[in-house]
Amino acid sequence: MSDPLVEATGLVKHFALRRGLFSRARGAVRAVDGVDLRVEAGETVGLVGESGCGKSTLGRLLLRLIEPTSGRVRFEGTDITELPERRLRPLRRRMQIVFQDPYASLDPRMTVGQIVAEGLQIHRMVSSASEREARVEALLRRVGLRPEHARRYPHEFSGGQRQRIGIARALAVEPRFIVCDEPVSALDVSIQAQIVNLLKDLQEELGLAYLFVAHDLNVVRVVSRRVAVMYLGRIVELADAGALFDRPRHPYTEALLSAVPVPDPERRRLRILLEGDVPSPVAPPPGCSFHPRCRKARAGLCDVQVPPLRAVAPGHFAACHLAE
Ligand code: SF4
Repeated sequence: MSDPLVEATGLVKHFALRRGLFSRARGAVRAVDGVDLRVEAGETVGLVGESGCGKSTLGRLLLRLIEPTSGRVRFEGTDITELPERRLRPLRRRMQIVFQDPYASLDPRMTVGQIVAEGLQIHRMVSSASEREARVEALLRRVGLRPEHARRYPHEFSGGQRQRIGIARALAVEPRFIVCDEPVSALDVSIQAQIVNLLKDLQEELGLAYLFVAHDLNVVRVVSRRVAVMYLGRIVELADAGALFDRPRHPYTEALLSAVPVPDPERRRLRILLEGDVPSPVAPPPGCSFHPRCRKARAGLCDVQVPPLRAVAPGHFAACHLAE
């Protein structure tokens, strides 16, 4: 197997729980609780799960936008976990993020041209104003906007257009890896497909790798080569998209997929209701953290032993004692 572009090993992020800024920690939110994940150059890994399962935190850890509690992240073969900012900066250029809310992530006081050009200037990728303008113009065209949009402000655009601006900003610095954090969740359904197609075209053209964080499984299926399913801070299933959607091995994935509408009545799945809420990540259940909601749980096993993520078929991994 070739060296991965991004590799996380034993990644953990616990957020201290405090009553006030200076009070002692009363516990910890176990947002990410021991994740191993590889993303190969040019591939899309979909990351799915209910809200609060740690997907967005994991995306930010991979980019070192937040510091891990423990574990390591390698990017292009370099361990970036403790790299000083000065040495991290050149690598930061090649790993970018596109946010869910394109409005909140764009500075309303900056023109679109300034927003897209910011990274070019920080990383000294242009040597003159005319070169900068030409680069911004080409980027805006590439994401389906017009050059004159550079002089306008974010509030003058629709949600879909603002997401295109966010994508142009990420692309400006010529990344190899982009965390797409729910990039279409805030958009109308009619616009979602346009943004997804734009991301796919850019990937093909530029050889980009994506971690595509989403809770809409239909979108994930369309964009991903492999899919990871997260539950309470851990990856509970990881497989090629086709294998995972055709034959999920983890009861949680089965339940998630059973709720997704499919057009073909022959392939319609029995709806499995997920009972109860996701348990608190402050005090996750012992053993398999899914056991209080699992219809297959076995007393004395699932509530005691943590199931490791293990291979159940070539390239297909599940963290379930009963998966086969
Ligand atoms: Fe369900 Fe047990 Fe498998 Fe967990 S280990 S998913 S509780 S069957």
